[in-house]
Amino acid sequence: NDSKTNSIITTQDSFQIGTYVTLSIYADAQVPDRVFDDLFGLIDKYEYMISKNIKGTELNQVNQNAGIAPVRVSKDIIEMIKLGLKYADVTKGRFDISVGPLVDLWAIGTDFAHLPTDAEIKEKMALIDYKKIVIDETKQTVFLPEKDMEIDLGAIAKGYIADRLKGLIQEEGYESAIINLGGNVLTVGTKPNSDNWNIGVRNPESNAGSTMGILKLTDNSIVSSGVYERFFIEDNVRYHHIINATTGYPEQNDMLSVSIISERSVDGDALSTTVFLLGLKEGYRYIESLDGVGAVFIMKDHSVYVTDSLQDKFTLTSKDYTIKS
Ligand code: FAD
Ligand code: MG
Ligand code: MG
Repeated sequence: NDSKTNSIITTQDSFQIGTYVTLSIYADAQVPDRVFDDLFGLIDKYEYMISKNIKGTELNQVNQNAGIAPVRVSKDIIEMIKLGLKYADVTKGRFDISVGPLVDLWAIGTDFAHLPTDAEIKEKMALIDYKKIVIDETKQTVFLPEKDMEIDLGAIAKGYIADRLKGLIQEEGYESAIINLGGNVLTVGTKPNSDNWNIGVRNPESNAGSTMGILKLTDNSIVSSGVYERFFIEDNVRYHHIINATTGYPEQNDMLSVSIISERSVDGDALSTTVFLLGLKEGYRYIESLDGVGAVFIMKDHSVYVTDSLQDKFTLTSKDYTIKS
């Protein structure tokens, strides 16, 4: 198909769900505004469903009704919570979507970020236990049995939304696109000329957001979690936004970031946070045990570990890092 190699790219940006969104669609002609309006509208829909920062969202109502009553929610929320519970089991509770009270306490990424006292952390820890979350799939409700319990879907939601955007792009008949939700990248199809996409892996130590490697991908998601995204530094300690829910403190390990490559972006999002909390050794083993998922680990000593399925897809482009195995 000759026309495909002549395709043009239409890109539109927005600032939604607390991050920069860039949608690029390849087609024979300019993609109409209406398509982008629908795509950004879909993000709005999810923002008003699951944001913790906006009053009245479904998730807020679940949290407000903690200790009071079950709340009827969209199927999307049930799906995200079920996925969250799965990874909580995998990490024996280090990953825990009921981490909300701790996320609020630390407030990392907001103007109120601060180092809490041990007593404050202990108090919030008493509220955190994913096993207490009650889902009734028939009634489509979620119930948090104790007052002040709070679900936070920040570790999963961007991936979930990216998958829904991909679905809508394909429904509109487009076969070639890149969805970027603040660094959560999901590719649709191949490039118009059938080539793989070259997706940069962010250098976690570059403030300018430069890359340290390239991944060749088709119909894949790449999602990263790391110490560089949202953090503050106090007394030479970097406190970042991935909290070990079994200690109440940001996870301190020897990893700068981990990038997960998967088919669905929601898996990549959940797994990037999960694997960061598992650490290199356990995380690497876990990723190798899964089908169709790969990972690139970037360590503080600048060594890089790439799982088997990605060996021929990843190219290191920075002299500052070394691939180890
Ligand atoms: P990931 O590694 O994917 O996840 C880290 C996030 O997961 C943390 O920020 C926290 O929310 C949560 N988390 C931390 N520890 C754990 C744990 N142990 N187990 C499970 N989850 C954990 N940001 C703004 O600044 N302003 C906004 O208005 C805003 N609105 C948003 C609305 C929506 C619907 C969504 C999805 C996100 C929004 N965000 C907003 C961003 C959000 O606050 C998180 O920072 C973001 O989702 C984290 O994604 P990540 O890829 O950086 O990190
Ligand atoms: Mg992320
Ligand atoms: Mg995540």
